[in-house]
Amino acid sequence: MIVDKYWLALNCPKCNYTNGVQIISVMLEETTICHNCKVKIKLQDTIASVYTEIRSAEHTWNDLLDTIKNFK
Ligand SMILES: [Zn+2]
Repeated sequence: MIVDKYWLALNCPKCNYTNGVQIISVMLEETTICHNCKVKIKLQDTIASVYTEIRSAEHTWNDLLDTIKNFK
């Protein structure tokens, strides 16, 4: 999964197509529809892995800041 500030990539559990989902939709536990096979994806089911991804993205960001500080 790719995470940025507002969007993340969510793989469809049925066809594995990568759908772009807004993080806010995941927070609100909305249902999205796969753009490829039209299956309904309950974002609620993916929320745990989403939070893990966001945390790891923050971790990467902090590492990047540390690297910048070390350059000074
Ligand atoms: Zn699909």
